[in-house]
Amino acid sequence: MKAQDVIILGAGIIGMSSAYYLQKNNPGKKILVVDREPGAGQGNTAKAAAMFRNTFSSRTSQVLSDTSINFYSHLQNEVNYDIHLKKTGYLWLLGRRQFREYSSIIRRMMEREIEIRILKKDELNKIPKLNLELNKNHEETKYLGLENIHKGLLGSKCGELDQSELVRFYREEFEKLGGETLFNTKIHRLIITPKNEFGGPPFVWQNPKITGVTTNNGEIYGNRIVLATGAYTHELLDPIGIDNHSKPKKRQLFQLECSDLEELLFVKNFNEHGILPFTILPKSEVYIKPDETTKRFWTGCADDLGRPFSLDVTPEKSFYEFNIRPIITKYFPQFENARIANKLAGLYACNTIDGNPYVFEEYGLIVISGCSGSGIMKADAIGRIVDALYRKKEEAELYGSVMFRVSDISTEKRNVENEEFVI
Ligand SMILES: Cc1cc2nc3c(=O)[nH]c(=O)nc-3n(C[C@H](O)[C@H](O)[C@H](O)COP(=O)(O)OP(=O)(O)OC[C@H]3O[C@@H](n4cnc5c(N)ncnc54)[C@H](O)[C@@H]3O)c2cc1C
Repeated sequence: MKAQDVIILGAGIIGMSSAYYLQKNNPGKKILVVDREPGAGQGNTAKAAAMFRNTFSSRTSQVLSDTSINFYSHLQNEVNYDIHLKKTGYLWLLGRRQFREYSSIIRRMMEREIEIRILKKDELNKIPKLNLELNKNHEETKYLGLENIHKGLLGSKCGELDQSELVRFYREEFEKLGGETLFNTKIHRLIITPKNEFGGPPFVWQNPKITGVTTNNGEIYGNRIVLATGAYTHELLDPIGIDNHSKPKKRQLFQLECSDLEELLFVKNFNEHGILPFTILPKSEVYIKPDETTKRFWTGCADDLGRPFSLDVTPEKSFYEFNIRPIITKYFPQFENARIANKLAGLYACNTIDGNPYVFEEYGLIVISGCSGSGIMKADAIGRIVDALYRKKEEAELYGSVMFRVSDISTEKRNVENEEFVI
């Protein structure tokens, strides 16, 4: 294959948004996206709940998501590209203790004019059969340490979209501009050049650089390489001694079905669509996501301690039965008879230090990592930052002419606050 100006490794939402902005702002450059899957967006992007929110505690995550949401809304409403975006909202149901703990984050969000509203019990009472007050004499309730619901926190610039349509947009636009894709191509390793005279890794004084990849379809060389392999990034970087500052962890989703749930899907008062917002329960951040089309609910919950960093993606029915079900059914008794209609598991690329993404360059390789379960909602901004780094700009122009210092999410000059609102 002919040498490229840029090779993008990984055709997930991050690889495709980066590909689009790189091709758009560097016309005439030969840019190739490579992925082992038969098409774009078929890795962890396809497994996501595809929710978006701008309700983050750190300024960085908030700006990355807020500007991306503005771009996605522009696509939906002005470009008329249907990514099925709906601002159905995020609703945190909070116990008294939790509300106290979150108060400084809520205050910070209000100071930044993030669109949030605190809901009192009379508004929450409109949600069918929601148990605001739990039966404290109930053995299991005590055992699980469940709190009564004290307040709600509603984020209105939040909602859902169809990630496959969003990926399709970036891919189509990238290809219209002359960009190329190569699928069904597994990348085995990154090529470092020059090789030393014995054929091994370069001597330290040879100014080594990463110049290509070996794949099942042969070697591909490029002037610059963008590594957008998400949760799998360490597989390519560990062997050459570069740290990607992120680790893979399994996250699961279960789709629940039961005729008792239908009433809960359509709730007025919270958004213009008359759908229950994505709702997070007061314990262990168990969440439910209404699925209007199938009339079912998706549920999930992030388990941290005891869940190893690994590439395992086998969904576990028992995880629902023993972790999620006991909590959900206490607050929403209508889930009592629900059965699992579908289940899936994917990987978060967890940044274990500050919860924000990384975009950095080493030896001619631009690495994106640590999207920590919110890569789709930040993908537009990240793609623009990758392009700015490629063009050696200090600042990236995010959607709506918001300027963002590229080095703020780098490794060397990192300047981010800790993100405390990772779900
Ligand atoms: C259960 C779950 C729920 C989630 N919910 C949300 C949500 O509601 N909102 C949100 O914003 N985010 C959510 N996320 C996170 C979101 O899925 C990720 O942040 C996002 O998809 C990351 O995109 P990516 O392009 O980095 O990774 P991926 O989509 O995984 O793309 C990486 C690509 O690299 C390719 N690749 C990797 N290694 C190789 C190799 N050696 N050779 C060739 N190709 C390779 C893969 O095939 C893949 O296509 C969720 C994730 C999970 C698991």
